[in-house]
Amino acid sequence: QKIWIVNENPSAEVQRNTFRLETRPIPALKDGEVLVQTEYISNDPAQRGWIQKDSDPDRAYVKPVRAGEAMRASGVGKILSSKSTKWKEGQRVYGYLGWADYVVLPEQAIVMEAIDLPGVTCASLSTLGMVAVTAYQGIFDVLDCKPEHTVLVSGAAGAVGSAAIQYAKNIVNAKRVVGIAGGPEKCRWVESLGADACVDYKDPNFAANLKAALPEYADRYFENVGGNVLNTALPLIKRYGKIGVCGMISGYNGKVEPISRIFEVISNRITIQGFLVLDVADRYGAIVQTVARWAKAGKIQLNDSETVVPTKIDDIPKTWQRLFRGENRGKLVTQLVA
Ligand code: NDP
Repeated sequence: QKIWIVNENPSAEVQRNTFRLETRPIPALKDGEVLVQTEYISNDPAQRGWIQKDSDPDRAYVKPVRAGEAMRASGVGKILSSKSTKWKEGQRVYGYLGWADYVVLPEQAIVMEAIDLPGVTCASLSTLGMVAVTAYQGIFDVLDCKPEHTVLVSGAAGAVGSAAIQYAKNIVNAKRVVGIAGGPEKCRWVESLGADACVDYKDPNFAANLKAALPEYADRYFENVGGNVLNTALPLIKRYGKIGVCGMISGYNGKVEPISRIFEVISNRITIQGFLVLDVADRYGAIVQTVARWAKAGKIQLNDSETVVPTKIDDIPKTWQRLFRGENRGKLVTQLVA
């Protein structure tokens, strides 16, 4: 078994010594445990928060991963042997496998059986994965998007954002859907998913271009980025509008940009609500089924919804770090190869 361990919790950029790879004997299975061979690993910006140095466990939404502990990650793999009454040898499952080639897990670490969709490499992590459930929660539960709304989505070319764009446009039939993404190529891709416009936040004219794309302001804002993107969007949120804060990736590596326009929340009576996909855990399976129906009905783009990176075990951290350089379109999936 090769397994990545958190070596030193980072306070800013992840360093070479943040993680270490260990080779260990595979432990013998105990009752209620399964041995899984990892096939695909989910790459999530949240993992950066889980390993943050000196994070306060009382304020964290999940238990932090401390130095000396195995890196936490969800993934899809095949059960090679089982001493569980719930899961059988040969089943392909989605669960918390970590960054390891083989892993022995308690049966509770398995969330559900893996799901396949034609045209998708790892639907359990992408089109029908946690990111899809998050986008659903944001668009429907938190923002309550309606056909009369103009919906703005940042991080629009990412896994959550690209799903949110499609739900807002194709399911809600929102009047106008505008994305924010990094670079012209990603913006054109977001428009190909159905957005009426997508604005490049790396362009020097970002603020003016965003204003031009929102002539009637945004009723709803699905926020994935924070920092300067949020600051630029704040004066463009409609009076009594709502911001659903899903993530703030721009600050995860320690460089937190100030939000100077927060007074907009008062002058325009804006509601800001943070949310966590954990809070809809009891509806996870039902939401996945709903999205699967939309996918089968052609309402969700399946081809090209993932960036799959074949990766050797030694390079797992490198592939994960692509998230923070914007080197993905749709879901960034690590395909573990020999
Ligand atoms: P993405 O697929 O969106 O990947 C990350 C993207 O973020 C990159 O491709 C890049 O896109 C953008 N990005 C990276 N660094 C920066 C930066 N410094 N400034 C601005 N943009 C940056 O990841 P996910 O879809 O998995 O996650 C999106 C957001 O949703 C994250 O903030 C994440 O934490 C959050 N999230 C929250 C959940 C919840 O329960 N609340 C659950 C899942 C995710 P670009 O090239 O466009 O810059």
